[in-house]
Amino acid sequence: MRKKIVAGNWKMNKTQSEIIELTTALSVALQKHELADNHEVIICPSLVYLSKVKDILAILADKKIKVGSQNCHTQNFGAYTGEVSAAMLKSLDVQYVLAGHSERRTYFGENNSIVKAKLDIALAQGLQVIFCCGESLTIREKEAHFDFIATQLEESLFHLTKEELKNIVIAYEPIWAIGTGVTASPEQAEEIHAHIRALLGKKYDETTAENTTILYGGSCKPTNAAQLFSQPNVDGGLIGGASLKADSFMGIIENL
Ligand code: PEP
Repeated sequence: MRKKIVAGNWKMNKTQSEIIELTTALSVALQKHELADNHEVIICPSLVYLSKVKDILAILADKKIKVGSQNCHTQNFGAYTGEVSAAMLKSLDVQYVLAGHSERRTYFGENNSIVKAKLDIALAQGLQVIFCCGESLTIREKEAHFDFIATQLEESLFHLTKEELKNIVIAYEPIWAIGTGVTASPEQAEEIHAHIRALLGKKYDETTAENTTILYGGSCKPTNAAQLFSQPNVDGGLIGGASLKADSFMGIIENL
């Protein structure tokens, strides 16, 4: 049975005391919530708070929340001022890292080949990767989104072996839905998720395709999560805005 995941991308939000409050509230709420064996909850705070969040979860003896980084560099060490590496994340016992998020692609010039390098170094360090893909509105309006996503997978992901792919979670995040309040309809999400799974089947095999977790991201909220997650190929969500409050994040997790 493939994993179902709700992951929170906290982006560049919150002060340290707010992060402590949110992490604690979430952990306490999750203690009262039964997570199925194949369900996972991940939080991705800003890099500066990763250690703090790990410490809080350890103090609370939290076994349910996994921690992810929002980014890593393509090199492990060296003269890259302001950057953080997969080796550093591994040394903090961080379990996941995001790669290919559209905000990194748009504001930091990360193209498919940079994303590919990030995937490789993260996997080599034993991290699991949430690989983000998704089209802009212009591409969707031209009806080029199926090919666009196929190219993103081809250029960043499909060099991996079947074995390596086991440590990859794919997040389909249409750029027009991220932080806009506009959500893809369950049918739109399902159509692309099925497309991604079919591409995985063609490139690898049916078992690999069936076992790969594909998340939806883009203005997912407690009010639309149930419908989105009920689609056969939607295995949970990557959540931005709605992950910044424990009750709304829990409202999404409850729909897994
Ligand atoms: C995201 O940035 O990954 C995201 C899905 O954001 P939001 O939920 O705010 O649209």
